[in-house]
Amino acid sequence: MLGIFGGTFDPIHYGHLRAALELKELFELDHVRLIPCAQPVHRNLPMATADQRLEMLYLATENQTDLIVDAQELKRAGGSYSFHTLTALRANYPDMPLLLFIGSDAFNDFTTWFRWQELFDLAHIVVITRPNSELNPLNDFFKMRLTNDKSLLKNQLAGGLFFQPITQLAISATAIRGMIAAQQNPRFLLPDVVINYINQHQLYF
Ligand code: ATP
Repeated sequence: MLGIFGGTFDPIHYGHLRAALELKELFELDHVRLIPCAQPVHRNLPMATADQRLEMLYLATENQTDLIVDAQELKRAGGSYSFHTLTALRANYPDMPLLLFIGSDAFNDFTTWFRWQELFDLAHIVVITRPNSELNPLNDFFKMRLTNDKSLLKNQLAGGLFFQPITQLAISATAIRGMIAAQQNPRFLLPDVVINYINQHQLYF
């Protein structure tokens, strides 16, 4: 099984990294792919460039073979859509169950995503509980796919909806950017190598 963790990563922080590692272990995954989006379709433009966000991801995951940075969305022209990303991964891994991880806040907007129903033909959707975020009631489409049987995720390539609590770390990229802009020290919320990169490139000031 392979895990997919997409995001803006502006910048990557320990909330993302801890979640990705924990999910890798909880689902006994081959690896988790961290996939930065080019232009986020569901939010404002990021403040670091795509190359800078990618560079910070590489720095944060150095020597961590469980977490693989996948730049495919940055190489594709235009906006980033999970549908295209999962279609490409499905073609590369025809026999592997794919787990698409989504924070509960992002899942609340899921029905606005491009071809959202078809995403279930390509992957399982695993919603990770996020601090300070309430979940909207599930629609019938979701209820039909809801499972709490982990073995189903292993035995089928796609189609399940699973909710997974993980260690709660109330860290957000928005808060980190705010701290840097306010000249507060963001240390211990994200890796030092990433902080050094931010300082070198004068990001978020
Ligand atoms: P921002 O504050 O700029 O919105 P963010 O910290 O939420 O950024 P994103 O890059 O937007 O980071 O998030 C990527 C994915 O990681 C999303 O699915 C999001 O829900 C999840 N995520 C972000 N922060 C955490 C956290 N602290 N714990 C668990 N999941 C998180």
